[in-house]
Amino acid sequence: MTRLGLLIDVTKCSGCHNCFLACRDEYYDNDYSPYSAPQPLDGQFWMQVKEVERGSYPKVKLDYIPTPCVHCDDAPCIAIAADNAVYKREDGFVIIDPVKAKGQKDIVNSCPYRVIFWNKELDIPQKCTMCAHRLDQGDREPRCVEACPTGALTFGDLDDPNSTISQYMAEKKIEDFHPEFGTKPTVKYVGVPKRLVAGEVVRADKRGECAEGAKITLEGDGVKLETASDSYGDFEFEGVDKNKTYKLTVSLAGYATLSCDISTHTDVNLGEIVLERA
Ligand code: SF4
Ligand code: SF4
Repeated sequence: MTRLGLLIDVTKCSGCHNCFLACRDEYYDNDYSPYSAPQPLDGQFWMQVKEVERGSYPKVKLDYIPTPCVHCDDAPCIAIAADNAVYKREDGFVIIDPVKAKGQKDIVNSCPYRVIFWNKELDIPQKCTMCAHRLDQGDREPRCVEACPTGALTFGDLDDPNSTISQYMAEKKIEDFHPEFGTKPTVKYVGVPKRLVAGEVVRADKRGECAEGAKITLEGDGVKLETASDSYGDFEFEGVDKNKTYKLTVSLAGYATLSCDISTHTDVNLGEIVLERA
């Protein structure tokens, strides 16, 4: 059987929540046995769109991370379920059997991604099935992918090197969301937000005047990143690795070079960096 995959490009997600609404529309009060029982009106977010705020005022970024079940190859939900109530299909999708899983509340807490929800009325755990019922009927993609207006979600055949998803994966840097969980997710990501390092460069001799074109380098742990301040004196480094120490250097012709060590345990806003005449 063909291996099918979902690729989520966070850099393209606008946070419109169309995917979430399409998912609710597909599953609320609809029975797709043997893959899923009807979703209740409240409390289920099979396709969550997480909002992530980074930085501090005025250097702030807002990202949106669509987060369905990531259909792990090494899935704790499968490991904990009794009677094979959670299983992996040959195409890669992890399914909770709504009959066998009845009463098995432990399955909800087994998922480190927190994407399993308890249905009180039916006494079952529930989550994203990757629209297995639609795919079995010959549909090309899940509802969320169909509903996305920005191309942030790409679905398709991982075994076909010419499929859109395979080509996208060959071109981009592919990541796992929360690799530290160690569950080998099959849903992959592009552009998972990392640390933001930002600041503003000004000249001491012309107080208040922005220093456009200052060269800023961030160096450490085998990495060297470089940028220049813009016409407002602002600069930023996006996608910096977490929990590292770097040396940041600011230089501009005619001014004394400044440098400092920074740690990316959190986002870093250096505020105003004042350059003195050399
Ligand atoms: S993301 Fe959670 S629910 Fe989905 S397969 Fe992995 S452990 Fe199971
Ligand atoms: S529909 Fe697409 S753009 Fe909108 S929130 Fe979902 S993934 Fe993001």
